[in-house]
Amino acid sequence: MILEKAKELRAATIIKNLEKRNMTGIYCKTKGDALKQALDYIEKGSVVSWGGSMSIEEIGLMDAVKSGDYQVIDRSIAKNYEEQREIFSKAVLSDYYLMSSNAITLDGELINIDGTGNRVACLNYGPKNIIMIVGMNKVTNNVEDGIARVRNIASPPNALRLDLKTPCSITGRCQDCYGDSCICSQIVITRRQSAAMRGRIKVILVGESLGY
Ligand code: SF4
Repeated sequence: MILEKAKELRAATIIKNLEKRNMTGIYCKTKGDALKQALDYIEKGSVVSWGGSMSIEEIGLMDAVKSGDYQVIDRSIAKNYEEQREIFSKAVLSDYYLMSSNAITLDGELINIDGTGNRVACLNYGPKNIIMIVGMNKVTNNVEDGIARVRNIASPPNALRLDLKTPCSITGRCQDCYGDSCICSQIVITRRQSAAMRGRIKVILVGESLGY
């Protein structure tokens, strides 16, 4: 009970700080509540795409979107690099782009690290709306801790999941690699959203552990 209250207080702090950065936040206690909230945001018939994310799968959003009344741009159907480039480019014009954040600070900054860059490209500009599903396990005190979290907590299991032979997939910690399999090409810190796009980034904080 006390721990849940403390989690809600942390979420409220993040939500307040997201607002000063022209983003919105909402706290959902369970995965089911988060799924309902995400689907409430997405208009029927709209164009929906997504970036690689365990969190959107774990709350059931991926299945709901694929089987729902939406026009999906599905990255998984690409058979080669050129098809993937086309799909990633179309996703930039989607109405809703679904993703998680690799870390979020108590002060409301988003930290994301990408290997290809398509996901952070969409986060930065393009899709009309970004819907972010973020488990409270990804909250850090500051940007420095957030980057350390991504490199040492999130990247090793992500590299293992993708069957990539990176140093972190062998030792479990970042060794600042530059090899062909490196999944850390862009490190993007979202400090704020421009006022013209106020509310475009909608963060759904979830009171359960999600993703890596
Ligand atoms: S820089 Fe390399 S070793 Fe470090 S987290 Fe990224 S992929 Fe792993």
